[in-house]
Amino acid sequence: MLIHKLQDEINKCAKCGKCRSICPVFIETGNESMVARGRISLAEALRNGEIFHTELLRDYLLSCKKCLRCSSICPSGVDYDRIIQTMLDDSANHLGIWLIPRLIFRLFLTRRWLFNLLLKTARIFQSLVPLKRHGTMRHLPFMLMGGRWIPPLAKKPVLKNHRNTKKIKDSKMKVGFYVGCLINYVYTDIADAVIEVLNHLGVEVVVPPGQLCCGIPARSLGDVKTARRLAEINVEVFEKANVDFIVNACATCGRTLKRDYPHILGNRALKFTDKIYDISEFIEKYFSYETKRLDTKITYHDPCHLYWGQNISKQPRDILKRSSTFREMETPERCCGGGGVFNLLHYDLSTKIGEYKANAINKSGADIVATGCPGCRLQIEDLLAAKSSPAKCTHTIQVLRDAMLQHSLVKKCL
Ligand code: SF4
Ligand code: SF4
Repeated sequence: MLIHKLQDEINKCAKCGKCRSICPVFIETGNESMVARGRISLAEALRNGEIFHTELLRDYLLSCKKCLRCSSICPSGVDYDRIIQTMLDDSANHLGIWLIPRLIFRLFLTRRWLFNLLLKTARIFQSLVPLKRHGTMRHLPFMLMGGRWIPPLAKKPVLKNHRNTKKIKDSKMKVGFYVGCLINYVYTDIADAVIEVLNHLGVEVVVPPGQLCCGIPARSLGDVKTARRLAEINVEVFEKANVDFIVNACATCGRTLKRDYPHILGNRALKFTDKIYDISEFIEKYFSYETKRLDTKITYHDPCHLYWGQNISKQPRDILKRSSTFREMETPERCCGGGGVFNLLHYDLSTKIGEYKANAINKSGADIVATGCPGCRLQIEDLLAAKSSPAKCTHTIQVLRDAMLQHSLVKKCL
């Protein structure tokens, strides 16, 4: 078992229980097997041969949102993320990967044309279901996720729609855009905004069509083989694109590319990861510009994988403060309850965790809540729709695009 290699990391845990005070899942469930301390005790028991991998244990592992909040508070500096990932990998080795996700990962995620076909078919089925709530949300029928409301799939994925690079006169740099699945197939409006803002700032944007899923869903279920294959293809595709930087607008994809790829591919990934930037981080680091403020009250939700995972919180706020009337909500860094695999498997729990967020947004009095992750946007739109809230959710870069195209002055670039 791989967990034997983490003996020192496991031993670091002082069992102080501080992680219990902030873990969104533990706060809702009060279950010790659903918090970092409890899972580390389970890792110890596995290491000592006192317990074995079972479906029940896998349930406890998959009830972790991997939000990284506990690592930020842990006084012993335990690398919990590494421990939980290793336990998930061991679990997949012992129990195998469930059939449907295994088929999706191995057949569809690694073959773009087949994935496109799958989602095109899903879109046809989805279009047969009438629009509900706010006129924007539809239930995706074959997902069989009772009560879950999601937005329509896009007519044309970003990777088909943005094949041709817009030539920018006297462009100062060439930037590759890593799109990610949710933006590619659902929130194409975020991609449009990324490209429009960068073009407006004098940047040539390339969207390599060969890029694939970052691999996080496969990694979350311990499918190391698929996660490695996807990482290899993405690194290769962007190496060939020969770009100066690579931007993304998804907190989870961004963290995976920056932090997981070196673990998966070793030093081979370093040249690639050095170029990765979240879009707000990139704009605030390399550009100076002025925009007219939109006449809109906007608040901001910190995605866990930006705030805890990449230490990015000031940059999006600076953008929003320049572009709108900004209002901070209560504890904006508190988790919204979203998150790929966790959300699919624990929808009720995810909604309970999100209750605080939905109330905080409504209390802020903002018309719009901006965020830096399409996964958070999906969750927040669902939470707001359930409360019939008039507030809308968008991405930070869309706010900047709207403000910038009204009136902006680019003062300096690089
Ligand atoms: S906060 Fe850190 S040291 Fe304390 S119980 Fe949790 S993981 Fe262990
Ligand atoms: S990563 Fe998040 S959900 Fe998982 S144990 Fe830590 S705080 Fe809880």
